[in-house]
Amino acid sequence: AQLANQIAAGEVVERPASVVKELLENSLDAGATRIDLEVEQGGVRLIRLRDNGVGIAREDLALALSRHATSKIQVLDDLEAVSSLGFRGEALASISSVARLTLTSRTPEQSEAWSVRVEGRDMEPSLQPAAHPQGTSVEVKDLFFNTPARRKFLKTEKTEFAHLEEVVKRLALSRFDVGFSLMHNGKTLYQLKPALTEMEKERRLSQLLGGHFLEHALVIDMQAEASGLRLSGWMSRPTHSRSQPDQQYFFVNGRIIRDKVVNHAVRQAYQDVLFNGRHPAFVLFFELDPATVDVNVHPTKHEVRFRESRLVHDFIYRSLYRVIADLRP
Ligand code: ADP
Ligand code: MG
Repeated sequence: AQLANQIAAGEVVERPASVVKELLENSLDAGATRIDLEVEQGGVRLIRLRDNGVGIAREDLALALSRHATSKIQVLDDLEAVSSLGFRGEALASISSVARLTLTSRTPEQSEAWSVRVEGRDMEPSLQPAAHPQGTSVEVKDLFFNTPARRKFLKTEKTEFAHLEEVVKRLALSRFDVGFSLMHNGKTLYQLKPALTEMEKERRLSQLLGGHFLEHALVIDMQAEASGLRLSGWMSRPTHSRSQPDQQYFFVNGRIIRDKVVNHAVRQAYQDVLFNGRHPAFVLFFELDPATVDVNVHPTKHEVRFRESRLVHDFIYRSLYRVIADLRP
C-alpha cells in the first residue's frame, strides 16, 4: 500500500506548493474561518498549518491518512454534486508517504485533542493525546526525505516559496470570508483578517497584490439576468503603465481557472479599447449555473469547459468592454 501511495504521491505532491494547496483545501472543506500557515525553507523543511475547522474525531484520525479514506463522498452519485474542493481521499496518504507528517485535531465534542504521526513508508500511525484547540493542525516535515529522485527536481528555496505563496494568494482571493496568515522562516508575510465589506476586501487585495493594483483598478460588477451570468471583481485601469501579466486571477464559481475562452474575451476587450497590446492585471469572479460548466477533476489542472462557450465569451467581452470604454479619455 505504501508503494501505491508513493506512486500516487507523484500525481498530487510535486512540490511544497502542492502540499499547501491540498492542506488549505482540506481546511476550507472543514469550514475553517481562520488558517495559519508557517513554512521553513520554501516549505521543504517544514509546512505547518493550523485551522479552526470542524476537526477530525479521534477514531477517524488514522483513517484520514489512509488511501481513499474520504469523508466527503458517501455514494458515487455525489461526484456529480460534490461541492467540496478535494474529494479523492488521497492527499494526506500521498503526503505522508513522502514526508514526516503529524496530524493533530480536536472536534467540538472532544475534551482533548489527539495526534497521529507517520514517517514515510512502512509505518503504522500511532495515536497520542495532544494539546490543541478545536480544529486541526498538520505538520509536514522534510518533504521527499525518502525519495531523493523527487527531491532533486525541487528548485531553489526562493522559487519553491514563490510557488507556495501563489497558492496561498489564490485561495485568499477566492475566500475573502476566511482569515489567512503566512509566515516564512520566522517572518510574517500576511495577516489577513476575514474581509466582508468592500473596504476590507480592497485592503486584502492591496496586501496580496500590492497597493498599485488598486490605484489603477476598475471595479467590475455586471449581471445578465436572463442567462444568470455574473462577472465581478477588479481590473487594472487601461492607463496603467506597467504590464503585469502574472497578476491575472480568474475564478469560476469560486475556483481559479485558466481558460482559452476566458483569456481571449478579456484580452480582446482590453485590446479593442486600447489597441496597445498590453496585458491587464485582474481579479475577476465569474458565476454561472454549475450545471453549465464542467470542472476538470484532475488534481493539478485548473481547466473548465463551458457548455455555452460562445455565450460566456460574449458576456465577458461585453461586460469588460463597456467598463473600459466608459473610462476612455
Ligand atoms: P479528501 O480531502 O479528498 O477527502 P484528504 O486525504 O485530503 O482526502 O483528507 C482525508 C480526510 O481527512 C478528509 O476527507 C477529511 O475527512 C479529513 N481531513 C483532512 N484535513 C482536514 C482538516 N483540516 N479538517 C478536518 N478534516 C480534515
Ligand atoms: Mg483533500
